Amino acid sequence: MAMTDRAEYEVLVAGTGPVGMIAALACAKAGFQTAIAGPKASTADGRTTAIMHPGIDYLKSLSLGSFIETRGEPLRTMRIVDATQRLVRSPTVTFHASELDLPAFGHNVANAEFNAALETAILETPGIRRLEGLVASWHPSETHVDARMEDGTEIAAALVIAADGRGSSARLAAGIYVETQSTGQSAIVLSFSHTRPHEGISTEFHTESGPFTQVPLAGNRSSLVWVVRTDDAPSILALDPSELAVRIEGQMRSMLGRVTVETQPQTYPLSTSRPRRYALNRIALVGEAAHVFPPIGAQGLNLGIRDVESLVQVATRNREDIGAADALAAYEAKRRPDIALRSGVVDLLNRSLLSDLLPAQVARSAVFEALRTLSPLRNFFMQEGMRPGNGLRSLLPLKTRDRQAESRT
Ligand SMILES: Cc1cc2nc3c(=O)[nH]c(=O)nc-3n(C[C@H](O)[C@H](O)[C@H](O)COP(=O)(O)OP(=O)(O)OC[C@H]3O[C@@H](n4cnc5c(N)ncnc54)[C@H](O)[C@@H]3O)c2cc1C
Repeated sequence: MAMTDRAEYEVLVAGTGPVGMIAALACAKAGFQTAIAGPKASTADGRTTAIMHPGIDYLKSLSLGSFIETRGEPLRTMRIVDATQRLVRSPTVTFHASELDLPAFGHNVANAEFNAALETAILETPGIRRLEGLVASWHPSETHVDARMEDGTEIAAALVIAADGRGSSARLAAGIYVETQSTGQSAIVLSFSHTRPHEGISTEFHTESGPFTQVPLAGNRSSLVWVVRTDDAPSILALDPSELAVRIEGQMRSMLGRVTVETQPQTYPLSTSRPRRYALNRIALVGEAAHVFPPIGAQGLNLGIRDVESLVQVATRNREDIGAADALAAYEAKRRPDIALRSGVVDLLNRSLLSDLLPAQVARSAVFEALRTLSPLRNFFMQEGMRPGNGLRSLLPLKTRDRQAESRT
């Protein structure tokens, strides 16, 4: 890198959301000189995140496994219930982790606690420089990217990992065009207690306005992601806690007994976002800078963790210049199919919920019926939901699977 006297790093991560912090820890572990810039990690985020097992395994490799296992609640069963009033309704589909010989599909963790644990891990990792504040400007060049913080600090890096969220300024500086669309929905999130145990079951009720998803927390408690039409959100938020609890209990058909709302509801406007490229001009996109879609099937952060895993693998194979065009092209090729498939399926499912068209309802119902009754398809769906390629591998004869596993290591 030919640079002036500003601080030089191999990697500069922009953004201190979960994906950025995981990226910084992974880069440092891979031996790259790493800096991470962003505000103090958010402990005001009232959401919880279901992190699935392949993601947990990766977090374990970054010494975060014990946090997940001690603070996270296992998700043993996932159930999808059609709660629409439409003419054609889909059958209820239930997936058990035990069908895959797993104790749980994953663990549900509170974002505020997870962010705090990640921030602590970053501060305790000697190979990471933590820069608090926003990056104000970016200047990519042939050999490196210059970044200037709001307080005037200047940094140069061979590779910038853009983990600066859906409005990513690093993505803009890379010259990557992004198509963004509001879905007209908002997610209301809160935590609640209930009188009956959840038994490790998460239930996603599909309604005409989007999914209403209960996810287990420790004890007789759960978190809720309730997707509503944005115009309807204010009237729900205006309910007092006891009226809100009655609405939630009614929506869940009293499945968990009496409900008490425990936290102040927060709202998140929903949108979809598709960048044309995932890496360009020494800037690689990860997390919500690379993909935004509605919260269905706990895919977002899990996809972000896989972005980081792939990017660090590619960087490790291209140590002589980790931001070179060839390395970025390899990252793009690795991530495009997974991101396109997940965003496409979630978007399609969301649209089928919002649509009043009979063919959409019939198609959705047929897919759910097949998922309910055809065990190879169920197995494929569950495996593929956890990690891309797992589904196909599960269909192969055992010997071929073993050979593939050997060639991956
Ligand atoms: C209601 C809801 C529920 C969800 N539930 C799940 C779930 O159960 N499972 C799952 O896998 N996913 C879930 N998701 C998706 C998941 O929350 C996101 O994928 C994840 O939060 C994205 O993290 P991120 O780090 O990419 O982005 P963010 O969390 O948005 O972080 C971006 C960071 O960049 C910083 N930043 C912005 N600009 C700059 C700048 N110029 N310089 C430096 N820093 C900057 C911001 O301050 C922020 O810290 C859910 C999403 C929603 C909305």
